[in-house]
Amino acid sequence: MNAKEYVAQIKQQVEQKDPNQPEFIQAVDEFLPTIVPFLEEHPEYIEKNILSLLTEPERFFQFRVPWQDDAGNWQVNRGYRIQFNSALGPYKGGLRFHPSVNLSILKFLAFEQIFKNSLTDLPIGGGKGGSDFDPKEKSDSEIMRFCQSFMTELSKHIGPNLDVPAGDIGVGAREISYLFGTYKRLREYDAGVLTGKPLDFNGSLGRTEATGYGLVYFVKYLLQDLTDSFKGKEVFVSGSGNVAIYAIEKVQELGGKVVTCSDSNGYIYEKDGIDLELLKEIKEVRRARLTEYAKEREGAEYHEGSVWKLKAQADIALPCATQNEIDEQEAKQLAENGVKIVAEGANMPSTLAAVQVYHQNEMLYGPAKAANAGGVAVSALEMSQNSQRLAWSKAEVDEKLDGIMKNIYETCRDTAEQYAEKNNFMLGANIAGFKKVAKAMLMQGLV
Ligand code: GLU
Repeated sequence: MNAKEYVAQIKQQVEQKDPNQPEFIQAVDEFLPTIVPFLEEHPEYIEKNILSLLTEPERFFQFRVPWQDDAGNWQVNRGYRIQFNSALGPYKGGLRFHPSVNLSILKFLAFEQIFKNSLTDLPIGGGKGGSDFDPKEKSDSEIMRFCQSFMTELSKHIGPNLDVPAGDIGVGAREISYLFGTYKRLREYDAGVLTGKPLDFNGSLGRTEATGYGLVYFVKYLLQDLTDSFKGKEVFVSGSGNVAIYAIEKVQELGGKVVTCSDSNGYIYEKDGIDLELLKEIKEVRRARLTEYAKEREGAEYHEGSVWKLKAQADIALPCATQNEIDEQEAKQLAENGVKIVAEGANMPSTLAAVQVYHQNEMLYGPAKAANAGGVAVSALEMSQNSQRLAWSKAEVDEKLDGIMKNIYETCRDTAEQYAEKNNFMLGANIAGFKKVAKAMLMQGLV
């Protein structure tokens, strides 16, 4: 069987096995065609049917998470952990608390995490987990009780050499702390069982900023290849969580101007540039909505709906909100706006059709698994520090992050060129990420 026929067969197999998992199917569909040229060179992977192994999680758990709200009502949510692939190291990946969470979304995230983690060149496998719990408008005590209940079950399945969760949407240092407290009580004090811990106990300097900074470093190296820089660039950012905030901070530091940010209801457009201090105060301290930002800034416009419908000139777009936030139409709008570079801070924020529009318009596209790998990379550095029982300086962590992002960018660029697909960073990321995982899997035998 040739490589094209083989990936077509795998695609069909995945669709047949899990027809109700559209996000997972989408992530696999995006991946498969890009690795054909590599498989053509390496028929041994086809002979060993490596893609059947790779598209099937090693295991996953689904569990009941009972908790009591402040009014005394009994509530129940679903908890999950996907342990997708451990060829390169312990399962590693975040926990997402959001009402949309289901098996399909977590499997897509865990699948992408395998290749993202491989690209960092650090010893981590791929996993993901979370719950359909909605942290919005919950009190601090409700969050604590939920996290305690969630970890009561999860603690049976994780460990510093087995599976190391971290944050994702809806899970930050506060949640990680409650989760850690419960793990410690049930098992033992083991700093390396979770990453994204606060600096007060075994967290790593620079972890909070890592995904956003890493994204901007990726684009910085891409711009350098074009003998260009962020100076004077007009940048659209979506989202207003951790990734968006620190992407904005780094773009501003490098001389670019970020004019948008968004939440799930609407977006801010501020021609003179976003006021980062106010944004941090509203999101990190008050945990409030962006409508408050608009009230406090005269020059800021607030609009309901998607930021990607905005008609205004821009050079660079950094989607940092959530999956499938940019569809085909919105991608066309970006092209009309003059956007030349799209780099993804969120996971799979562009639909397959949107990615095609980027390619058709010769926009340079940095896919999530490469461009947002900075977060998990610094998580792996946090694991190293925990093992050493040492804390590195912020400068040391940042320098390592910058180096890792440079390496990821160059790997994607060079791999794309090697397969005569210059500037196809998605193909470069997928082949480079896959290559290491597939080789390790083959060496470890049929397990
Ligand atoms: N949730 C982040 C991601 O999508 C970070 C995962 C981690 O630090 O383990 O990569």
